[in-house]
Amino acid sequence: MKTLIKLEENPNINMVGKIYEFIDPTKIYIPILTNTSFHKNDYVYKNNYYSNYISSISGYVTGSKKVYLNKKLVNALEVTNDFKENSHIKRRKKKITNREELIENLKRFYLLELITKLESNKKNLIISCVDEEEYSINEFTRLSNNYDEILMTIDFLSKILKIKNITLAIKNTNAKSIKNVKSIIGSFPNIKIVLLPDNYLISLKANLCEFLNLKEEDSLLFNTIEIYDIYTTSIKFRDITEKYVTISGDALAKSFLINVKLGTSLNEIIKKYCKIKDKEYNVYVNGYMQGINVNKEDIIITKEINTIVINKRQNNLTTECINCGACYKICPVSINPKRCFFNKTINSKCIGCGLCNYICPANIDLKKVVKGDMYEEKEN
Ligand code: SF4
Ligand code: SF4
Repeated sequence: MKTLIKLEENPNINMVGKIYEFIDPTKIYIPILTNTSFHKNDYVYKNNYYSNYISSISGYVTGSKKVYLNKKLVNALEVTNDFKENSHIKRRKKKITNREELIENLKRFYLLELITKLESNKKNLIISCVDEEEYSINEFTRLSNNYDEILMTIDFLSKILKIKNITLAIKNTNAKSIKNVKSIIGSFPNIKIVLLPDNYLISLKANLCEFLNLKEEDSLLFNTIEIYDIYTTSIKFRDITEKYVTISGDALAKSFLINVKLGTSLNEIIKKYCKIKDKEYNVYVNGYMQGINVNKEDIIITKEINTIVINKRQNNLTTECINCGACYKICPVSINPKRCFFNKTINSKCIGCGLCNYICPANIDLKKVVKGDMYEEKEN
């Protein structure tokens, strides 16, 4: 393992403990990836899926717009909320007793990443409660608020998958979660708590397995949010229509966690909850280190979005590379980011951690080239 570092704190970020609830957006947007035809005023029921994306409200189609999804702009339906929450979907209620039934059930909710993880047999089950990005508090909050449900679901999974070696990995700085979990861990004797140092990338599977002295190929890794998704869909048989998003950054008067309906536009959240101190700012989706700088008009909250960072625009001008080698030394997957940058080549091994940008004294945006993180802007 390369030596892991602790990221410097940003003293201008003011994180408030309060969690906001925003579950009555006026509109939501549903990405439409296939040629499904829709007309204005068509009725959309809550909990219906349209090309893997759920409608988190009921209401009428009132238009369409381009939204950001996995680095691309795609078409999305605009649905105006009628605030009736009409749904005609009936979910199974039969208890799940084996892996095949679990996979079948997860397919109904389009939780494809979870299904891929569950397809092979492993000896170790690791649950990471780590928020890797600074100031992201999604994992920590989910564990602190739902530790009963999380532990119950880990126990359920270990029985279904027949895994006995179970580790719950928590950062040693998350005192509140540790205290809550310790209060009931006695009821789950198979689950072992391990405290992790507060280092960036500690929850990367390779790093975590090395720290825990477990073989990567024998280990199955989930995070707390994924465990809670399994709880919702496969123990409670409910659809996932809301999610936690951390909204932080030094351009904001305060940073916070918000529970929002999927498909809500970032613009509506900003208008209602954010006081932006600086006129000139950048919006990063999924964190400052690992995320991409995007246009806020195009952002809707999807399952893939955990963190929005709103930072004041930096005046650190890019200077010439001084050949210090720091980007190569720090890269956890031993890429030479400087070489990729000058040759304008991407490297598929790049995990997008952002450490090369963080360390570069010349402020060169290396990650953008190496990872191919080019955000496709709307044509005007
Ligand atoms: S962003 Fe990619 S190239 Fe840069 S340090 Fe991380 S893995 Fe290496
Ligand atoms: S860290 Fe920046 S200045 Fe140093 S070698 Fe890499 S690109 Fe050049």
